Amino acid sequence: MALPKFLNELNPGFKYEVAEKPGGGHIKSCFACGVCTGGCPVAEIDDRYDPRKIIRMIMLGMKERVLSSDFIWLCSLCNTCSFICPQDVRFSEAMEVLREMAVKEGFVDPSFPKTLKSIESFIQTVRDKMVTSAVEKRKEESKVTPKEMLKEIVEKS
Ligand code: SF4
Ligand code: SF4
Repeated sequence: MALPKFLNELNPGFKYEVAEKPGGGHIKSCFACGVCTGGCPVAEIDDRYDPRKIIRMIMLGMKERVLSSDFIWLCSLCNTCSFICPQDVRFSEAMEVLREMAVKEGFVDPSFPKTLKSIESFIQTVRDKMVTSAVEKRKEESKVTPKEMLKEIVEKS
């Protein structure tokens, strides 16, 4: 009996390929608790995005599906998942490994990461301007010190 197409596509060596690259070494320690997904800001706004699920897909050997998917480019590399992971999996570092592999193996155009980086840098500039402008506005409206205002903004974000 022929195996389902899905099983034929599995590559059991994928997790080892990821693990041997700098940054991917901790991936096999994941015990699928889902804490990373619970704290991920991208997962909060897009329920298709799930770090725990991506790790499971790596462990199962779903190489083509992972490297050809758009979700490896949705991660903002904010590192939240790495800070809160009880197993020190450092998923954000593994995500960079996946991106490099996707480029190297021809799943995306080599110019794409550069384009993404300039978009991210633009977004960061806008974010900085918004924070500066909010601080300036509050400074004019109250006698709260800039330090106290920044603390307030960080607590609210
Ligand atoms: S928090 Fe860490 S151990 Fe838990 S699912 Fe995420 S990567 Fe795996
Ligand atoms: S680094 Fe990526 S996966 Fe981790 S919390 Fe941030 S957006 Fe989510």
